Order: sequence, then structure tokens, then C-alpha cells
Amino acid sequence: MQNFSLIKTKGYINGEYVENADGKTFAVLNPATQQEICQVADLGVAETEQAILVAEQAQKKWKQVLPKERANILTRWYELVLQHQEELAQIISLEQGKPIAESRGEVLYGASFIQWFAEEAKRIQGDMLPSDKSNHRLMAMKQPVGVVAAITPWNFPNAMITRKSAPALAAGCAVVLKPAPETPLSALALAELASQAGLPKGLLNVIPTTQAVDVGKVLTESPIIRKLTFTGSTKVGKLLMAQSASTVKKLSLELGGNAPALVFDDADLDSAVEGVFASKFRNAGQTCICTNRIYVQAGIYEAFVQKFCEKVQQIKLGEANQPDVTMGPLIRQSAVEKVQRHIDDALQKGAKLVLGGKPADLGGTFFQPTVLKEVNQTMLVAKEETFAPLAPIFKFETEEQAIAMANDTEFGLAAYLFTQNINRIWRVSEALEYGIVGINEGLVTNEFAPFGGVKESGIGREGSHYGIDEFLELKYLCLGIT
Ligand code: ADP
Repeated sequence: MQNFSLIKTKGYINGEYVENADGKTFAVLNPATQQEICQVADLGVAETEQAILVAEQAQKKWKQVLPKERANILTRWYELVLQHQEELAQIISLEQGKPIAESRGEVLYGASFIQWFAEEAKRIQGDMLPSDKSNHRLMAMKQPVGVVAAITPWNFPNAMITRKSAPALAAGCAVVLKPAPETPLSALALAELASQAGLPKGLLNVIPTTQAVDVGKVLTESPIIRKLTFTGSTKVGKLLMAQSASTVKKLSLELGGNAPALVFDDADLDSAVEGVFASKFRNAGQTCICTNRIYVQAGIYEAFVQKFCEKVQQIKLGEANQPDVTMGPLIRQSAVEKVQRHIDDALQKGAKLVLGGKPADLGGTFFQPTVLKEVNQTMLVAKEETFAPLAPIFKFETEEQAIAMANDTEFGLAAYLFTQNINRIWRVSEALEYGIVGINEGLVTNEFAPFGGVKESGIGREGSHYGIDEFLELKYLCLGIT
């Protein structure tokens, strides 16, 4: 195991590192080498129940802490994350496999949510409302929802933790966090830094576990947990939503995507290639806003395919810390099987392979960056999120056709369009049934902007000045005066 002071191998409850009562542990693997990084405590139902109880007690005190003091603690956490940027980035790369430059970027991105919500803690404002009667005074105030359960995925092991826990803590909530079993180390490292920043114990509890189903049941069925914030697959999101019904929890769900990128004849070719490439291949295609389908208008189609492939050929696969590496492995073998299934299905239905198409020579879960052309809507790649470095390029003739194909999915997270025509920008942006639209830009996420989807891509928004409302309840006060 690497000698990092921030690598913690136990769960974190009430400010203490805890083991499973029977000493049960699980292995965290480096996806680039499949080698074990370390064993981590495999907590279960009993520890989760305990974490919920301590969170409840801690939250009762935390909600009384002045917003400015909450902001100060979060600001110290932010500063500590920045001071430990390199170590946190190395931990991300170790357990998730992304190139070190991307991991450094993720730490900054993750930290930006702590800073943003530290500032927002001071701006939780209510309203004086117009009165219905001369002897009434009406007010609306905002209060923390209470104890929050957060369940996070492996693709952003650091930023998903901060994007959920920073607004919750800023709002005056306590958090019980279940990170993905593939990447518990980043979550535990962040909790350690929060503790060093002076966050009172019990407010941020981390449950590393392989028992997601059982722990998920405890979190969703507990009446103490008033809010569930989840990022992950649509399948698990629907299950958690159903489980949360028994206690009518507030929900934020960031689920799957199937992002289209529309490139029109009147696009600037170079910036379209740049934008689609950036959104497609980030984290080896393993983000929920990665372009999944590339629709290119007939007049620019061949030119786009050619320039795009020139760029794809420059990708260098490898382990995170090797020089010049720009793309890492996939997270697990099942991801390799999925992308291969999508490629085989497309080829069988008439698509043409332009680049890649199979596991890379490096072995393990490394996969060749792949480009397919002459792809159509009957193929699996049009319907399912591939979550891998596969770029399927479809052809379209008219704007109406492009919009119809882009919207022809149950998902609605991110979409991209590339055109120089201002009228088309408005028409298409308004017609796209998506929560996020990138216009002549492939990298659109930041702490200022609301992140979230429509349709089966989810409920609620993270980041931005809207994000903190997900952790607040509105209370109406009616004062009768004489
Ligand atoms: P992926 O396939 O990308 O891993 P998942 O939706 O399966 O996406 O996982 C996202 C998060 O949800 C992870 O933390 C995982 O452990 C957790 N998870 C998976 N199944 C359940 C479940 N039944 N209850 C609660 N959490 C779950």
C-alpha cells in the first residue's frame, strides 16, 4: 500500500474510525493493475444504524450553530483539501484509474463545491410575504431537512462526496455517506480532512461496505433520515425511490444519461471536434454527461469523422502516473463486456468500424478508443449508456430530424450542440429535453451551474445557488397581531 497519511482503512462514525464487529474487510483494487491497494472495513446494518443515531444527535446541535461559523468550518475544510491536492489526486487515480492530471482537476472541482456552499451557508434567506388580512403577518423561513443519506458512485470518488455533503453541512444537516465499494478511500480521506477542519463529530459519517442492498434498505427505511441524495444508475435510483416511499423522503437523484451531441453543417468544425472529443473521452467515457451519441449533419459528416479520428488517435492509454497518459482503464471487467457488446451489435446491424474496437494490448480493463460510423437508431448504442470510450457517429439531414433523434430516449441529463447560427442555438436549446445543454462547448460542469436531469435522469439539482435548497425545508409562519 502507498504510504499516504490520508489513506484510512476503517469506517468513520461519530469522529472515530470503526471496524466491522467481526473484523470483516474487503479489498480495494487499482483498476489499472488489478492489484490490491488495501483492505477496508466492511461495515453493515448495525454500524449504519449507529451512524444514523449519532448523526441525529449531532445535527440537533449543528442546526443551532450560526451560519457564519458553519461557513468558517467549511472554508477550513476547503483550504485543507487544496493543501492536500496532490495526495487526494493520487488516491483518486489509485482507486479509480483516471490519469493524474484528471484527478488533480477532480480535486479542484470537488473543492469548489465546499467553497461555494461555505459561502451559500450565509445566504439561506426567508421571505416576508404579502398579507391576506390587516392583522396577519406572513413569513417563509428555511430550515435544514435533518439527517441526510448520501450514496455515491465510483466515477468521481472525490467530487461526488463534496457536491453532496458540502451543501448538506452548509444547510445545517448531518450526513451518513455510503461511498461506492470500488472507491471508499477518497471519501474517507475527505472525512479525515473535515475532521481536521474542526467539523464536529457525528456530522459526516462514512460507511464503506459491500452490503449495498442491506445498508441501502436501512438508509431508505429509517424515519430519522429525511433526505436521500443519490448518484448512480437509473435502475438503483428507481429502487431507492421506491424504498424511500415508506417514509416519504425528500429525494435528489442524479441518474444515468444518454447524451447526444448535435453537430450542424454550420458549426465551426475545429471547435466541434474539440468539444465532442472532450465530452466523449473524459474519464475514459465514464461520466454520466459524456457524449454517448454523436449526430452529424450530412454536409459536414465525412470531414467531421476524419478530423475527429485524428484527435482520437492521439489518445495515450496507460496507468495514471505514466508520462503523457491521457486515458486510463475501465473500472471493471463488466464495463469491457458492455462496450464490446455495443460495438458488436452496431457492426452486426451495419455500422462501420473506423478506429479501435477491442480491448487494448495493455490488457486488464484497458479498452481501445473506438469510433464507429454509419450508426443508426436501431442499434444498442442509441438506446443505452455505453460508459466507455466508444464514439458512435450518426448522420442526419434536417434540424427536426436531429432534435427528434436526440430526444428519442428515456434519459434527459446533458446534450450538446454545435452551430454558429444564433437562431438555431435558441430553437434547438429550447427543444432539447435535457437538464443541461452545452452550446459550442463540451465541458460544462462547475460549481456555479445547476447540475441535474429531467425524465429518467433524475430529480433535483446539485451545485449553484439552487443546490442548497435540496437540503432545506420551507416553513410558513402566520403571525396574528392585535
Ligand atoms: P454502477 O453500476 O455505476 O456501480 P450503481 O447504481 O450500481 O452504479 O452504484 C452507485 C452506488 O449505489 C454505489 O455506491 C453502489 O454501491 C450503490 N448501490 C447499488 N445498489 C444499491 C442498493 N440496492 N441500495 C443502495 N445502494 C446501492
